[in-house]
Amino acid sequence: MSAKIIDGKAIAQTIRSEIADEVRLLSQNHAKVPGLAVVIVGNRKDSQSYVNMKRKACAEVGIKSFDIDLPEQVSEPELIAKVHELNANPEVHGILVQLPLPKHINEENVLSEISIEKDVDGFHPLNIGKLAMKGRDPLFQPCTPKGCLELLSRSGISIKGKKAVVVGRSNIVGLPVSLLLLKADATISIVHSRTTDPESIIREADIVIAAAGQAMMIKGDWIKPGAAVIDVGTNAVDDPSKKSGYRLVGDVDFHEVSKVAGWITPVPGGVGPMTVAMLLRNTLDGAKRVIGQ
Ligand code: NAD
Repeated sequence: MSAKIIDGKAIAQTIRSEIADEVRLLSQNHAKVPGLAVVIVGNRKDSQSYVNMKRKACAEVGIKSFDIDLPEQVSEPELIAKVHELNANPEVHGILVQLPLPKHINEENVLSEISIEKDVDGFHPLNIGKLAMKGRDPLFQPCTPKGCLELLSRSGISIKGKKAVVVGRSNIVGLPVSLLLLKADATISIVHSRTTDPESIIREADIVIAAAGQAMMIKGDWIKPGAAVIDVGTNAVDDPSKKSGYRLVGDVDFHEVSKVAGWITPVPGGVGPMTVAMLLRNTLDGAKRVIGQ
């Protein structure tokens, strides 16, 4: 193996302790405790486990979490009324509505009601629009894309002037991470499901961000030697040797790519922990903005 492993778990832990220190200072010096409202509708097991993880992470760094658990049958107007109530609550600096929502609720209608000052997920069209425009800055950057750039910068990998290829163009990861790389002065290409000959495009990249949701799609001979490879993909594949019957793999064939790349993130333990750390960071920054810090 030649690639350096980018240890997302350790980097996220460092960031969390930095956040905990800042939260302590904020409450000592300004009597302000950052607050995050985490809204969940229904009882999907996967959503509940993500929400619990986020609430626990808040508690660990001293962020107050407001737990809003609504029944599966809640109507769209009732959910929007709850969002308005949270928009108006001065103790809440960030609002996160766990997706997916039940089918009878239009997600776009709900997400666009979150005040952009509290849009810690960074998905509001105004925040994404500002991210796309030169000379404008969004109030919040989406957490997973922000986590990818933080992994690069904390590993000493420069972006300016580099060729970066993003695999995937979703609103949640591929598109915003491309915009962030562009803002950081990379030259970007976006590869997606309709791209012909993705290998030849990926092979030119100094930085590859993989977010396609395709298990181990990116092979060793698709990678330029020495490239930095950030694997966002999280895919469950059958593994009878595991108690659960499955294991998680990325979009990158780790075994092959780690022999060619200069840096690589593992799955799990790469991008995943950074997403939660960036959510905490955004909530803290939202609280600091309120008091002009
Ligand atoms: P998505 O399904 O919304 O989007 C996938 C994108 O990949 C699409 O734009 C599609 O065009 C592209 N794509 C699909 N097949 C492709 C192929 N063969 N070649 C090139 N491009 C292809 O998924 P998403 O929400 O963006 O998530 C992507 C992956 O990242 C998933 O595995 C998801 O679980 C993971 N994810 C991880 C985190 C984290 O915190 N670690 C957060 C969000 C998403």
